[in-house]
Amino acid sequence: MNPVKGNFIAGEWAGSASGRTAERRNPADEREVVGEAPDSTADDARAAVGAVSDGYREWARRSPEARARALEQAADIMERGADQLAVELVREEGKTLSEARMEATRTPANLRFYAGEALRLAGQTFQPAGEGLVFSSREPVGVVVAITPWNFPLNIAARKLGPALAAGNGVVFKPSEVTPLMGQRLVEALLEGGVPAGALALVQGGAEAGAALVDDERVGAVTFTGSYLVGSAIHRAAGPAKRCQLEMGGKNAVVVLDDADLDQAADIIDRGAFGLSGQACTGTSRVIVHDAVHEELLKRLLERARRRRLGNGLDDGVDFGPLATRGQLEKVHRYLEKAIADGGRLQSGDEPLPDALAVGYFARPAIFTDVESSSRLAQQEVFGPVLSMHRASSFEEAVEIANHSEYGLSAGIVTGSLERALRFAREVEAGVVKVNQPTTGVAINAPFGGIKHSSSQTYKEQAGDTMMKFYTIDKTVYIGT
Ligand code: NAD
Repeated sequence: MNPVKGNFIAGEWAGSASGRTAERRNPADEREVVGEAPDSTADDARAAVGAVSDGYREWARRSPEARARALEQAADIMERGADQLAVELVREEGKTLSEARMEATRTPANLRFYAGEALRLAGQTFQPAGEGLVFSSREPVGVVVAITPWNFPLNIAARKLGPALAAGNGVVFKPSEVTPLMGQRLVEALLEGGVPAGALALVQGGAEAGAALVDDERVGAVTFTGSYLVGSAIHRAAGPAKRCQLEMGGKNAVVVLDDADLDQAADIIDRGAFGLSGQACTGTSRVIVHDAVHEELLKRLLERARRRRLGNGLDDGVDFGPLATRGQLEKVHRYLEKAIADGGRLQSGDEPLPDALAVGYFARPAIFTDVESSSRLAQQEVFGPVLSMHRASSFEEAVEIANHSEYGLSAGIVTGSLERALRFAREVEAGVVKVNQPTTGVAINAPFGGIKHSSSQTYKEQAGDTMMKFYTIDKTVYIGT
């Protein structure tokens, strides 16, 4: 049975008016169809915006307590269903069961955090020039479009729908075409939790539907997470009248100095680079290591990469799932070829796979040494399990290589020196800095976003003092006597 119900527009679950659909297959075994979703058109997108534009005001008028309660109830529902949700997530996206369980529990935790934000919204009062009163209030922006990627299909979406709804906005949500069921599960929980049908629409599909949502003049704000390429197109298309929040790619580096505990460094890098099969925006893709410890670190990284157990994320003992799509697998293969052509030495990752894995999109964790920091592998986001190693002979050189990137999302350092750690935090060009921790993994209640090509520079996603500003308009009211 197809678990994907379709689009949710004006309170109805239905297919695309065009009848177009797209099939999703299990990335661990592409013989298995896990769902068939509408491949929505621009007309479907416009219908969704129209429905939310007409319907969200009743939600906006509800008290902050009522909005918070609905988000809390959605969180309860997701927590109760977390086991089943995690299994569905593995089958649809490919991550391992323990990675999926983590996401299925973090998502409701995020919703609870944003429920609290509904209660914390507050305006200001100002001293008027004459008699009367001047105050500002926080109003919802109106219709918010949320467009998300497939790698954290629940959590990233919750970080957008949660605060948007907490502030009283209506939301049109377009999940990735790779993970339609996870998009649906979040929407179902929110509706069951008490968000009214008028305030929420779900549009399944890809670029056509997404572009039409961004283009619609009835939309007040667009929040997007995905690639720099698509984010840039969205920024141009949204124009000056819409708010735009873009969370994009990364080329995250870990610096390992000669005073580092190398076992700790190898654990941190292995987890950051090869957790989620390398498909995390904050994933480690570059290691910059002091000459003196290069060989020892390499040895430890190779041991850990070779210990990884590839397979279906639902199978016991598997700690490295497939890539999410055939396109992802082909991209990883292309980058292995490019890196070799550019002079990199592949130390691990091209060993043949067992026949049993030929039914899925599997790639081994790959480690390259002798990579030029201006080469394609070092500069372009692969978004897969491919790690490049670079040598440095000093702290200063290591930071220079780390900063030689168009991206600036997450960066890490492994060192025993507090002084060097703090200097790194000051000098590295990244929105998130990790000392003796993997580049992946971020707190629910701390600001999150990057610099350079990793984020638009106007609003930070997820906590931080600009988060609720994105979803609210400061309205200034003058009261005369
Ligand atoms: P993608 O950019 O291909 O797609 C993202 C979303 O945009 C999808 O829903 C897609 O359907 C939609 N889309 C595509 N073309 C569009 C258009 N013209 N107009 C509107 N919407 C359009 O990214 P992906 O492959 O789904 O995800 C991987 C990327 O996401 C990587 O670059 C990764 O770094 C990034 N990412 C960033 C963060 C972050 O927080 N910075 C988090 C996770 C993933």
